[in-house]
Amino acid sequence: MIEALKKVPRHIFVPEKYRKYAYVDQPLPIGENQTISAIHMVGIMVELLELEEGMKVLEVGAGSGYHAAVIAEIIGERGAVYSVERYPRLAEMARENLRKAGYKNVFVMVGDGSKGLPEYAPFDRINVTASAPEIPKPLIDQLKDNGIMVIPVGRIFQELKVVRKRGEEIVVENWGGVSFVPLVGEYGFKD
Ligand code: SAM
Repeated sequence: MIEALKKVPRHIFVPEKYRKYAYVDQPLPIGENQTISAIHMVGIMVELLELEEGMKVLEVGAGSGYHAAVIAEIIGERGAVYSVERYPRLAEMARENLRKAGYKNVFVMVGDGSKGLPEYAPFDRINVTASAPEIPKPLIDQLKDNGIMVIPVGRIFQELKVVRKRGEEIVVENWGGVSFVPLVGEYGFKD
């Protein structure tokens, strides 16, 4: 995980105005009142996802594309990341950043990621980068058996949950308190 964090050029994913802070471990504005997550948070989430080479990963909340690039670095060229972003302008920026950084296996789409991406499901892993009121049922449905989802849940008091699907059984563990922008959508908070 550390190797992947070292490899991804975060400055490419940070808007020009904040570029001098690109390697400071804090969230930074990316437009539309949204943020690129802090480096340590990206590291914690990819570690919890237990990523392996060749995996198919759904990300909800592409933002700048940085987190998806770190995932792509770990799953390698045989894997793929499908990342959904609700703001078209951010999705366009994420695509451009990923292109500049050389990632060809991250596919950024515009839409309500709280519904997942049924047309590409099932996924080995699901990474949600915005905080949901509760774990969206469509995301559980789109997770493969033995799959793992990492998702922040809560509005003001938020907890990062690690969701494991084992057949019919869904096991949810709390990692601890976090602070994310809200997941806004049909299975998220209302605008
Ligand atoms: N992973 C991003 C990065 O590395 O820059 C940071 C993501 S930011 C903390 C959360 C993102 O989730 C925002 O860009 C926000 O617009 C997006 N978002 C919120 N609700 C969403 C939804 N229902 N579907 C897709 N994206 C959503």
